[in-house]
Amino acid sequence: MKCAKCKTKAVIGLPRHNAAFCKPCFIGYAHEQVARAIKHERMFGPDDRILVAVSGGKDSLALWHMLLAMGYRADALYVDLGIPGYSTRSREKVEGYHQTHAASLGAKLLIHQTQEEEGAGIRELSQLINRPTCSTCGTIKRYQFNRAAVEHDYDVMATGHNLDDEAARLLGNVLHWQEEYLDKQGPTLPASVEGFAKKVKPLYRLTEREVAAYALLNGIDYVVEECPMAKGSKMLLYKEVLNRLETESPGTKQSFYWKFLERQAKLQPSGLFMTEKDQATLHPCPTCGQPTTAETCSYCKMMARAKAAAPR
Ligand code: SF4
Ligand code: ZN
Repeated sequence: MKCAKCKTKAVIGLPRHNAAFCKPCFIGYAHEQVARAIKHERMFGPDDRILVAVSGGKDSLALWHMLLAMGYRADALYVDLGIPGYSTRSREKVEGYHQTHAASLGAKLLIHQTQEEEGAGIRELSQLINRPTCSTCGTIKRYQFNRAAVEHDYDVMATGHNLDDEAARLLGNVLHWQEEYLDKQGPTLPASVEGFAKKVKPLYRLTEREVAAYALLNGIDYVVEECPMAKGSKMLLYKEVLNRLETESPGTKQSFYWKFLERQAKLQPSGLFMTEKDQATLHPCPTCGQPTTAETCSYCKMMARAKAAAPR
């Protein structure tokens, strides 16, 4: 197998492009895909300050690495969920990457500790309010990332969602005809109102396998295990199904998601992801000041329930 660009020995084959690459050409290919995503979706410019949401996994650390390698000003935020074992291991990877690489490039690492700020680890908190762990986790992460981005004046918040994540999410939304989610699904979520950070997904043109190869070839030490709460999740099932389709017919994930984006761009040329009704009813949460369409924001509501249910 020879590299499609320089004809030396290839280290990775990409069936969806009917091509193979050597290490430097593959790294160049990955950077090019991310550069195209940033430009095409108008994610950010060279002077913008970016806050990367890192989990310790390959995708978010690879994203942080790429943005720094491409010369962007990228800091990171890690949310420590307080899951025994898993959180310690993933935090070590994030701190390790920061100490050995990112810090020398002037990048900062912010850490939010659920145990300290929300008063308990994510599992205990979910049990207290009788809610699924992943939904509690989603509310906390969305809230804390947005808060950090706004409070520290970042221009944009970036997450490590790759093509597999986005295609699996699209499959789930289509299977259940979640029209509201379909309308909002995309690689760029604009900062539609004051108090909401712009959110972007620069890895949406790279598959999970490509991101893993990128992390490996760049010597990034990441946590390989999945979060224990992900076991049995529908997203993992959708990914498996799409992987089977991809093996039979390379390029399926790409055409499924990219064609959805093309169609969405035609239907929503303004890129408006909030309904006019939502925009009209937005106001600051009376407890924390973050924008919300409900009376009190979902995070404050959840924390009030946890406080009321906590043993005295
Ligand atoms: Fe959070 Fe659930 Fe994902 Fe774990 S699997 S990080 S608990 S959303
Ligand atoms: Zn609030």
